[in-house]
This record gives sequence, C-alpha cells and structure tokens, in this order.
Amino acid sequence: MFMRFDEITKIKSESFKQIPLDCPICGIMLKTSDIAESFDEYGCCEECKFSFAETNMKKWQSGWRPTKKQVDRVLKNRAKLPTYTVRG
Ligand SMILES: [Zn+2]
Repeated sequence: MFMRFDEITKIKSESFKQIPLDCPICGIMLKTSDIAESFDEYGCCEECKFSFAETNMKKWQSGWRPTKKQVDRVLKNRAKLPTYTVRG
C-alpha cells in the first residue's frame, strides 16, 4: 500500500524539477537567484513574483496567470522607472 504512494510521489517530484531557461510568464531568462528564490515557490522569476504572484496571491495559487497584455504593461513599466505618480 505504501509502495504505491511512494511511486506516485517520486514521479511527481521528478517532473516538477524540470526548470525552463526562461520565465514562463515574462519570457526573460531565469537567473540562478530566481530559481533559488522564486521559481521553486511560484514558478516564475523574481520580478513576476513581485509584480503578479504576490499581488494576486490567492488567484496565483488557484492557477491564475497574467495575460500577455498585463505582462507587457509591467515589462514596459519595468524598463522606465516611473518619475511620476499615478493617482488611483
Ligand atoms: Zn518573469
């Protein structure tokens, strides 16, 4: 009985270990620090963790991922740090 459970766990953890070269969200190459810090937990790079995962934690955990449009917008903002404040 326990043998069966062990086998399933083994297969799962092995496939989970496959780490892509790029962040699946923004497509930017993953740094070693990303893999250590955020990929393991969130499946994305650190920037995406801050921009999407942590701000949408509940949705993120239920499988939600940002659309390409949302990612593009954040990438643009990332490139030019805002010198102004947008009022909400
Ligand atoms: Zn990313």
